[in-house]
Amino acid sequence: MAHYDVCVVGSANLDIVATAARHPLPGETVHGTGYHEYPGGKGLNQAVAAARSGGRVTFVGALGDDTAADILRNVLAADAIDDRLSITSGATGRAVIVVDESGENSIVVVAGANASVTVDRGLPSASVVLCQLEIPLTTVVASFRAARAAGATTILNPAPTAELSADLLALCDVIVPNEHEVDLLGGADALVAAGCGAVVVTRGGDGLDIHTPMRTQHLAAFDVDVVDTTGAGDAFCGALACRLAAGDALTDAARWASAAGALATTAPGAVPAQPQADAISALLVRQGDG
Ligand code: ADP
Repeated sequence: MAHYDVCVVGSANLDIVATAARHPLPGETVHGTGYHEYPGGKGLNQAVAAARSGGRVTFVGALGDDTAADILRNVLAADAIDDRLSITSGATGRAVIVVDESGENSIVVVAGANASVTVDRGLPSASVVLCQLEIPLTTVVASFRAARAAGATTILNPAPTAELSADLLALCDVIVPNEHEVDLLGGADALVAAGCGAVVVTRGGDGLDIHTPMRTQHLAAFDVDVVDTTGAGDAFCGALACRLAAGDALTDAARWASAAGALATTAPGAVPAQPQADAISALLVRQGDG
C-alpha cells in the first residue's frame, strides 16, 4: 500500500464569482460585468500547497455528480495529488460570490458533497494527517483517531472556527488558528492546556507565534509585495504539513511555511498562488530568518 507524506481530509469547492456594479437587493436582478470559476475549499487548497511544497499527497474528500467534480478532479491531478473521493448524488461544494465595484463581496457557501466526507472506509497511510473544519466534525475526530493509531502526526486548521470538543483538542499534535480564530477558541494557553501539542498562531504580515508547553516563540513575517492575501493561511498549513512529514523540527517547518504563506500573497487567487518548493527555498535563502 502506498505511503504518503501528507493526507488531507477536507473540503473541495468550485467558487463561482460574478462581478457587478452593485449587489442586487432581495428580489432584484442586476446586470453582471464579469464571471469566473475558481477551484477552492480549504482542503483542496491545502492539498495543493503541500504537493507544491514537495510532499507526496493524498486527498480524502467528496464530490457531487456534476461538471464541477470533473474540474476539481483535474486540479488535483495537475499537482499529482492522489485522491480517495466519494461521489454523492447531489452538488459538489460551491461558494457563490458576488463582488461589487468597490471590491465588497457577499458569499453563499453550499457544503454540498463536503457534508458527506467520511473516513469510514479507512485512512490512507501517511506521516501527517491534516484537517480543517469545512467537513463534519465527526469525520475530523475519526481521522485524527485513525492517524494517532497509525502513529501519524495530526494538524488541525480550525477554520472556519467551531466549538471544539475536549476529545478533538487532545487529538491535535499541532493546531494552526489565525489571530482571530485563536481568540474565539479561548486563547493559545487554553489550547495548550487542553492537550494540543503545539499551537501555531498565524498573524498575517505580523508573522506567527509558536506556543508549546515549554515555551513561546515569535517568527517575523517575510517581506514581500502583497497583491492578494487569499490563500496565505492555506499555503502555510499545507507547507507546514509537508515539512513536518519530512522530519523538520516545528520551528524549521514553521519558517518554511511562513515563506510559503508570504509568497501566496504575491499573486491573486488561492490555488494559482500556491508557491513551488524552489520559490520557497529561494525566499528563505534571500531573507534568512524572515
Ligand atoms: P489566514 O489566511 O488563515 O488568515 P494569515 O493571514 O495569518 O492566515 O497568513 C498565514 C501566514 O502567511 C502568516 O503567518 C505569514 O507567515 C504569511 N503571511 C500572510 N500575510 C502576509 C504578509 N502580508 N506578508 C508576509 N507574510 C504573510
